Amino acid sequence: MNRRDFLCKFSLTAAAVGLGSLDLRNKARYDFDPDTTIERIELLPFRYPMTGYFKFFTGPHGSQGRAAVVVKITAADGTCGWGQSLPIAKWSYETLESVTVVLRDYFAPVLLGKDPTDIKGAHQQMGRAVAPGFSTGMPIARAGMDLALHDLKGKLYGQSLAQMWRRPSRKNITLSWTVNVTKLDDVGPIAEEGKIRGYKHFNIKVSPDMDFDVELAKKVRQMAPECFLWADANGGYEPETALKAAPGLANAGVNVLEAPLRPNRISGYQALKKQGALPIIMDEGIVSATDLKEFADLGMLDGAAMKPQRCGGLVSNQRQIELCIREGLMWLGSGLTDPDISLAASLGLYGAYGLKIPAALNGPQFLTADVLKTPINIKNGRAAVPDGPGLGIEVDEQKVNDLLKQSREKKWDIS
Ligand SMILES: [Mg+2]
Repeated sequence: MNRRDFLCKFSLTAAAVGLGSLDLRNKARYDFDPDTTIERIELLPFRYPMTGYFKFFTGPHGSQGRAAVVVKITAADGTCGWGQSLPIAKWSYETLESVTVVLRDYFAPVLLGKDPTDIKGAHQQMGRAVAPGFSTGMPIARAGMDLALHDLKGKLYGQSLAQMWRRPSRKNITLSWTVNVTKLDDVGPIAEEGKIRGYKHFNIKVSPDMDFDVELAKKVRQMAPECFLWADANGGYEPETALKAAPGLANAGVNVLEAPLRPNRISGYQALKKQGALPIIMDEGIVSATDLKEFADLGMLDGAAMKPQRCGGLVSNQRQIELCIREGLMWLGSGLTDPDISLAASLGLYGAYGLKIPAALNGPQFLTADVLKTPINIKNGRAAVPDGPGLGIEVDEQKVNDLLKQSREKKWDIS
């Protein structure tokens, strides 16, 4: 028995012994060639059509739809894995164009010919191809490869994410509805739409005007007295405003305040945590688990929002969740308006780690198309965690090609 066969069998046995509740319906495949390599990487850049107002999808590029580069990695034995990178130029510095170039010219060439099950090795290769800045370089581009490799590895092993990680999984994840408005009169209809669709929990986009934000929070709290109310400022307050906003939002019924400041305002974060008006959650600025540990040790936060796309994929987010659990920090499940493929990965991750707080995964709220043969089941504000091998989804290549054509983008084939 070679190393990979051994690890595959051992992990299943350990799972069966240690975690009786593990769903082992996906039988491990022992028939794949353990020496198979990454033979081909295809990149499909396009934009998913959208509905509703969301501040990150405005302006000349954003209003064209949710940018994505779908990544298809094919192993020499023909098994393929799907991932995607989800840049938003108005959220971070990565764009559809930069992600495509980095995947095509920097990451794909160093992964061709490598072992598709060695995800840690793939990250080392990508880290050598594009050096870090403050933290991991080009994390959104990297996330596409990380997701596709998890999907491919899971398909080779016949295991879901939770099974590969030897963890039990939740069947469903409760979602939070996003309220992003420019006028207070819009709060009622938008929150009502969420309620009609069965959502019971809400996240609001706040900053820079704290008086507006407090009124917004009050209105949502009135409409949903029992909800988990999550305010996200996306780094939009100045420190002195944030110190006034936090108690105001707490009085209005907010439960957590996420990203009140840009991540380089270290002393501001420390003052907010010390003030203690609301749990301070960081999002922007945390890419690796090292960043999270340093920021936590500096007294900047009470918890962190997970988001595989921000962090270069699932490996980093897994480490961050484990760190939060070890250090008694809150961890929340978030996203970047993730469509289908990345949504499946996030649900798999949050399911495997038993997320307790409603997830701000708002792709299903804002996106009007998918590329799956069977879309992810979302009912009454709850999303089913896909439990098939890999990310647990089946991509419909015709749908991908249609969106590629509509977006007038070009497919890239690296082999
Ligand atoms: Mg956020």
